Amino acid sequence: MLTNNLGYPRIGSNRELKKACESYWSGKSSIQNLVQTGRDIRQKNWKLQQEAGIDLVPSNDFSFYDQVLDLSLTVGAIPKRYHEVILNKANTELDLYFAMARGYQKEGLDITAMEMTKWFDTNYHYIVPEFTKDQQFKLFSTKLLDEYNESKRLGIKTKPVIIGPVTYLLLGKEKEAGFDRIDLIRNLLPVYIDILKKLEDQHVEWVQFDEPFLSMDLTEKDKAAFKYVYAEIKKQFPNLKTLLATYFEALKDNTELAASLPVTALHIDLVRNPEQLQPVLDAIPDHRMLSVGIIDGRNIWKNDFKTSLDLLERSLSVLGKNRLIISPSCSLIHSPCDLDLETNDAVLTPEIKQWLSFAKQKIAELAALKQLLNKEEAAGSKLLDNIQANENRKHSALIHNPAVKDRVAQITEKDKNRANVFSIRKVAQHSALKLPSFPTTTIGSFPQTPEVRSWRAKYKKGELTAAEYDALIEKETEETIRFQEETGIDVLVHGEFERNDMVEYFGEQLAGFSFTKNGWVQSYGSRCVKPPVIYGDVHRPNAMTVRWSAFAQSLSGKWVKGMLTGPVTILQWSFVRNDQPRAETCTQIALAIRDEVVDLEHAGIKIIQIDEPAIREGLPLRKADWQNYLEWAVTAFRISASGVEDETQIHTHMCYSEFNDIIQNIADMDADVITIECSRSQMELLDAFADFNYPNEIGPGVYDIHSPRVPSKEEMVHLLEKAKNVIPSEQLWVNPDCGLKTRHWDETKKALIEMVAAAKVLRESV
Ligand code: GLN
Ligand code: ZN
Repeated sequence: MLTNNLGYPRIGSNRELKKACESYWSGKSSIQNLVQTGRDIRQKNWKLQQEAGIDLVPSNDFSFYDQVLDLSLTVGAIPKRYHEVILNKANTELDLYFAMARGYQKEGLDITAMEMTKWFDTNYHYIVPEFTKDQQFKLFSTKLLDEYNESKRLGIKTKPVIIGPVTYLLLGKEKEAGFDRIDLIRNLLPVYIDILKKLEDQHVEWVQFDEPFLSMDLTEKDKAAFKYVYAEIKKQFPNLKTLLATYFEALKDNTELAASLPVTALHIDLVRNPEQLQPVLDAIPDHRMLSVGIIDGRNIWKNDFKTSLDLLERSLSVLGKNRLIISPSCSLIHSPCDLDLETNDAVLTPEIKQWLSFAKQKIAELAALKQLLNKEEAAGSKLLDNIQANENRKHSALIHNPAVKDRVAQITEKDKNRANVFSIRKVAQHSALKLPSFPTTTIGSFPQTPEVRSWRAKYKKGELTAAEYDALIEKETEETIRFQEETGIDVLVHGEFERNDMVEYFGEQLAGFSFTKNGWVQSYGSRCVKPPVIYGDVHRPNAMTVRWSAFAQSLSGKWVKGMLTGPVTILQWSFVRNDQPRAETCTQIALAIRDEVVDLEHAGIKIIQIDEPAIREGLPLRKADWQNYLEWAVTAFRISASGVEDETQIHTHMCYSEFNDIIQNIADMDADVITIECSRSQMELLDAFADFNYPNEIGPGVYDIHSPRVPSKEEMVHLLEKAKNVIPSEQLWVNPDCGLKTRHWDETKKALIEMVAAAKVLRESV
């Protein structure tokens, strides 16, 4: 029986990698410093896992930016535009790597970065490989070999981890027409063979191939590629031990295929789907090992040993000791590093802390489960302690609030619907709001300057009193209201200066949420996020935003839009409790937001925006599961939005989304107005709305807020003309793509002046 880890967080327990990368990028420290930081982190991680007694310790799970980009460099899939970077002898391989990740603006060159997108249904983003028709591959970077040798020198024989060739190709994108990237498999495989040969020369024992696509919907061609690749590897390396890792979903219709691939061990994710254990046990041939993923690599809850041991014993009885491997469900890069660093009881109370487990603790759980399964004396009281903590959690008064559960149980159809349909509400809203055609607005936030952030930091440290802090925020809000009035924007916003983050701000005020001081998880590159922890029934003890919205409205004769984060987005960007379905938790949040919406209305706010940028990213990985998710997600939004009168206008906002396949569901949300990110697609995203005859109002973003560039009036007129060609004028709003919090004031002012001028041109043309 072996214990196996699939990957360990590489950011460092105190985000050392982030700091070292950013310091190197800004020219403040040397490349040697950065390289050394990487080495230190790897060494610490390996030692920690070895000392915990893990049998298969991963290497090449470290990355300076992203593991997919690492592989692109390994196999030499370097887009042509970076060749100038290679030619400059002053650049190291790492400089080339960062150029691909972040773009390159030096020596008169201006090379764009590679695209980034979400890693399956996680909040981690990877760099999308770019492929051309005549794509060639060759071993370029030896990172994987170097790290394996580095671990060997430390006396730890690691298991190199590499993304499998099929998944690698499927993660990428064709950069020209006329070919299918999966057909590149025959060109790509020789590089893998080359690497494996070199690893064998170094006496490698195990190699892990990550093929999460094996648990996704596959085409016949994809399936054939899997068969081809693993048969070839087996043929050329009959003695190499190979572990094929699938995760994030169940194998389902690919079970037979996965079980038949000639590898030493197959890994499955039993946290996401414990029901797949039996079909896999039935399908797996007698000589193959099975790695059962039973510790949640993606959430922060302490493992439930009783349940895990039950699954393990069932596996053991079929497989026997020699064929059983115990693992976390997936790589631990999606978990924060170390719960021991949470030492502030005021932030994370000891009662909640006892229910949690971060990467380091998960490694200890892995070792403990093996001891328990083996009935080793060393297991001591570990089982009892675990049962105790989980029982405490089950029965804690902190978690269970009967009033919240009752309220959810009593939700009626009426709570899910506005009193009247949009065509009736529209009339009431138009006569109450009296907005011009092509009304202008923004998405909510205005620049969060270093100054604004410093006030919050000082307030948190006690260097500013609440009254002093509030006064500063009031002043900033008032200036922002005046600026919008002077610019001639029709629907104003207060600017969101009081908010650190669009989820954290609400989580801090809702019951059922907790926070960590150091629970960072890599989102992309050096960017880390610290998601709130939803541990209990959620409700809203007090109004959350009314004070700021009402203040802002009191300053102006124009409408000020109230600004809220929607239930699905709050859910999606948090660590969610695992003791009830996500839908249930989402519904509880929806009721809390509904209360806030109603309170805003009572405070005289006539327009209320409920942001749902994360609705699309919450979509399940398998299409068959989409409808169920969309049904509860859309219902949650409707519950949050339906407590108001016809006259009150509900907006929603979404970004980085494609809408084609979910347009019916977007329409079902029934927001009076939806604003969407649109400019980078040159309004193409609007086609989904046009083809659908989307009936409600819509604000397609007319300029990209991700760049400091100031768009001209003409450009925006051009985009609006395009919009007008597909959506009737009376449905259109004019707004930027998203919030302005990352922009500077200077460019923000210029851009909004141009935007208002563009709206005027459109108004005159009707
Ligand atoms: N209201 C938020 C803002 O303006 C929306 C952010 C988002 O969509 N990601 O910042
Ligand atoms: Zn947005």
